[in-house]
Amino acid sequence: MPDVLVIEDEASIRTVLVRALTERGLAVAWAATGMDGLQQVVVARPDLVLLDLGLPDVDGLEVLKMLRAVSAVPVIVATARDDEPVVVQALNSGADDYVIKPFSAEHIEARIRAVLRRATTEPDAVLVVGELVVDPRSREVRLAGRLIELTPKEFELLAYLAGRPGEVVTKRELLAEIWRQPYGGADKTVDVHLSWLRRKLGEPASDPRYLHTVRGVGVKIVEP
Ligand code: CA
Repeated sequence: MPDVLVIEDEASIRTVLVRALTERGLAVAWAATGMDGLQQVVVARPDLVLLDLGLPDVDGLEVLKMLRAVSAVPVIVATARDDEPVVVQALNSGADDYVIKPFSAEHIEARIRAVLRRATTEPDAVLVVGELVVDPRSREVRLAGRLIELTPKEFELLAYLAGRPGEVVTKRELLAEIWRQPYGGADKTVDVHLSWLRRKLGEPASDPRYLHTVRGVGVKIVEP
């Protein structure tokens, strides 16, 4: 059972969150201040930290930096909507993901499980989807044994999708993870790179084999 540490000062939010995550099969501990949270990270070594950025004693971003100095534990930051620019700083300071308050229990559980899944995947593991082989170490991609030449961004996009076969990934997530643009904006960026990727993999968008667009949601890679 994964251990999650919730660092959240608002008792009402914290109570609901701890209960909801516990009901969903996670072992949840909590801290009401940044310093208590840091101490628990060091002592209890949780599998994941959910960190509120608005804390009474130490600014959440400072907590994150201090935490990163002592631990590689995956961190999801939670922030209020009007703090959105802070999310960029949080991602740059080592946060693995973010959620905007208010969020549902289903939403945060999905984020937690996705981050845990990523954290437990060997980062250099060769990814295989059907006849497609993506090697993060050599940055080589082969399709049915044939080497495919990709640009760095095309490679990152393909590797990201290949790490989550069958899972729909939103364009917003791709913009955040690969282009470091958590707020979208250049939505065409993903579409353009996808079309280039499809061309190099030799599959038309109208009849895709590996790269399937899920209209209005995102894209997924599947074994044909
Ligand atoms: Ca708070």
